[in-house]
Amino acid sequence: MLDYRLRQRDYLLAISRAMTSRLDVRAVLRLVLESAAELLGADAAFIAVRDNQDAFRIRAAYGIPSQMLHLFTPLLENIPVLPGAGVSAGWTIPDLSWRLHLVSTAVGLPLRQVVALPMMIGDQLIGVIYVFRLTGLAFSEDDRQVLASFADQAAIAIQNARLYQQLLAEKRRLDAIIEHSADGIMILDAYCRVEVINRALERMTGWRSGDAVGRHCAEVLNAVNAQGQPLCGRVCAALEQAEEPAGAEETLYLEGDIVRPDGSKVSVGINHSLLWDEEGRLLNIILDVHDITRFRQAEELQSTFISVISHELKTPVALIKGYASTLRREDAHWDEATVREGLRIIEEESDRLDQLISNLLDASRIQAGGLKLELTDVSLPRLAEKIVNRLRTQTSVHRFELAFPPDFPPVFADEERISQVLYNLLNNAVKYSPRGGTIRVGGRVLDHEVMVYVSDEGIGIPKEEQNRLFQRFYRVDSGLRRQTPGVGLGLYLSRAIIEAHGGRIWVESEAGKGATFYFTLPRITE
Ligand code: ATP
Ligand code: MG
Repeated sequence: MLDYRLRQRDYLLAISRAMTSRLDVRAVLRLVLESAAELLGADAAFIAVRDNQDAFRIRAAYGIPSQMLHLFTPLLENIPVLPGAGVSAGWTIPDLSWRLHLVSTAVGLPLRQVVALPMMIGDQLIGVIYVFRLTGLAFSEDDRQVLASFADQAAIAIQNARLYQQLLAEKRRLDAIIEHSADGIMILDAYCRVEVINRALERMTGWRSGDAVGRHCAEVLNAVNAQGQPLCGRVCAALEQAEEPAGAEETLYLEGDIVRPDGSKVSVGINHSLLWDEEGRLLNIILDVHDITRFRQAEELQSTFISVISHELKTPVALIKGYASTLRREDAHWDEATVREGLRIIEEESDRLDQLISNLLDASRIQAGGLKLELTDVSLPRLAEKIVNRLRTQTSVHRFELAFPPDFPPVFADEERISQVLYNLLNNAVKYSPRGGTIRVGGRVLDHEVMVYVSDEGIGIPKEEQNRLFQRFYRVDSGLRRQTPGVGLGLYLSRAIIEAHGGRIWVESEAGKGATFYFTLPRITE
């Protein structure tokens, strides 16, 4: 008897060792069956596991060829599954001996004795262990007790495997959330080295995850705040903290710019939180990196807007007010010419104000997506001539040339809007060629569209500035910028108008060598 108990202990020990050393639940279950069968002098055994639908399936077998397992299903039916403490004590499967008889005939093996014991986790039945003997020797109460300890081991093994699967599924879900989050996410270890970066952060930093893991935070997240302090330095300062502060759970917020390996910049806001273990040691720092570049640009745009507008509004208002108060001085008598000149300036400056206000309204309309066109047949050569004639009176140093071919076809367009475009291009040509020269406006007829160009011999535009001209409030920083009035809306509006017509607008220029602006409009097709 003592020997028997010792062997049982050895078997159980071997099983628990197997359980902790590998997570393959099948192997553990087989070991349980083998040990139980040997110890009880049994010839066959299997474990059936309960699934979500309360059906039982054989998960592991001993002494039964696998192609025969399906013949044992009569033993798996009507298993009592009600929870409760009483389950294990008085638990039996009804008509078990009779069912064994049926199975034994079907299998063609003289299975004579069976014992089936419940496998419990708490008060939940999770499976049943069955053991068979070919001989007539019945299973004793001792045998049942031995088997019960094996049933417990099997239950624990299955439960472990289930928990592990759950954990795995949970981890996969979490990984997917991290990976596909629109915000950049970075997880640092307790030494401030990268454990994880997600796709969004790969894009922001220009680092590949595989290259980033294991490196120090500052190497991967090369970001500084407005004072030039590295953000990682501030984040990793948490490591100096010896233990978890009372009332933890706080997230900390920092803002700054990431400088990518190629030199480009992304403005970011970083929320970071600290993860502590139960003993109050810092485990991880988790960073949520939000791209705020657009927000920053909007902020910048707003401050440009305010400074440009206030400057541009102030100049005409000051002139109007100056001339008006001079002219109405009661102690002075002005000759007719002076009065006319004063009134001319007042009128001109009012026009400028009016134009500025309409441009601002248009810009906000375009932003709101509501640029409406009133389309009619428009003759571009005639429109260009009208505008040129208006501009001729305002300059004495420029020569204007109209160069449209005689058969230039009409286009279907919004006359008011297109004349706004032509006016801005021609007005720019005048403004940005202060030494004068020839300004030419002409057109070409292509297969599906017409093309119009305006060229000048002025200061030109450096290559690197050319694609920014069409942005709102953008003005090239030349010496002329301060002297020439303008807010940088003309080309922005021109592009919006041309694109609303289905055309394109672009510039060709070299610094110091004049500029040519082109736009196209679709041709009327029958
Ligand atoms: P606004 O048209 O709103 O009164 P603006 O003329 O400064 O002001 P845009 O017409 O949008 O604004 O032009 C943007 C910038 O592009 C100008 O400030 C100027 O620096 C540059 N630019 C435009 N046309 C020319 C040109 N023909 N030659 C050289 N630079 C030009
Ligand atoms: Mg302009």
